[in-house]
Amino acid sequence: AKQNGGDAHHFFVAEMNAHTTERLELEGRLRYALAHQKFTLDYQPQVDIRSGRIIGAEALIRWHDEQLGSIAPARFIPLAEETGLIMPIGEWVLHTACAQNKAWQDTGCAPISVAVNISPRQFRQANLLETITQALADTGLNPCFLELEITESTIMHQAEKSIITLEKLHKMGVRLSVDDFGTGYSSLSYLKRFPVHKLKIDQSFVRDINVDPDDAAIVTAVIAMARSLNVLTIAEGVETGGQLAFLDSLECGEYQGYYFAKPMSADKFFALLRNNQTE
Ligand code: C2E
Ligand code: CA
Ligand code: CA
Ligand code: CA
Repeated sequence: AKQNGGDAHHFFVAEMNAHTTERLELEGRLRYALAHQKFTLDYQPQVDIRSGRIIGAEALIRWHDEQLGSIAPARFIPLAEETGLIMPIGEWVLHTACAQNKAWQDTGCAPISVAVNISPRQFRQANLLETITQALADTGLNPCFLELEITESTIMHQAEKSIITLEKLHKMGVRLSVDDFGTGYSSLSYLKRFPVHKLKIDQSFVRDINVDPDDAAIVTAVIAMARSLNVLTIAEGVETGGQLAFLDSLECGEYQGYYFAKPMSADKFFALLRNNQTE
């Protein structure tokens, strides 16, 4: 028995070392990427359902590492969260997205809003407000053209504290959007206290909207509730015309997803934006 236990132990240690080594390597590359400006932002259009006009863009971080290849945010954002690297990365994202949006506006394009994802740790950091104020001041972007996407579960973790932070952000004049809405178990009594502009209906509810009556019912209820609270709605992960038609029948308002366009480089987005606005 002792022998077996020893083997299992060695196996476990070997596994752990492999895991730790991989993690350390990724962390090292992440620090390198930060120091050498190896991140880029893609932009995905947010579209008015009725007019087909682009009214915003979500900024999504991209990382291509020379050694490891392209690494999805789902893989490195959690590590950035654990290590605290999310603070400087998040600052970079905010600054870059604001600067980009200001540059688009300066070309004479009709102004749109740029949506930036705020991670849980970023949302709770003490100097969040200064970071945002700084990004706006540095770039000259009017706060009403910056939207912060904060997930419902981030807000619901210590909801009372979150509401205070949301109120401060609201006073700054930035827009607030509750990301992944429907997955974070907030109740109506909380929701009516969130000073937010928009609910972003999670793509897990949109996916089967035409085939799963439960998902259709949830989305219908969320949109009706949002309307009664005077909050806008946007559906994410819209991939088909059928999904769009259903959302339009509910007067969802806005949508984002592959059906319109995948996330793309700033240059490509700008070409699409100009074309969309002069159509
Ligand atoms: P999210 O905020 O929910 O972003 C939406 C994700 O859905 C993006 O994945 C986007 O590319 C993808 N998507 C958009 N349209 C469709 C569609 O029609 N179908 C499907 N199946 N997917 C669609 P991405 O870019 O891989 O980002 C994944 C997550 O990583 C994001 O989820 C967000 O939580 C996080 N993330 C991305 N960029 C940033 C960032 O700059 N800062 C922070 N803190 N998190 C970020
Ligand atoms: Ca988002
Ligand atoms: Ca989302
Ligand atoms: Ca989601």
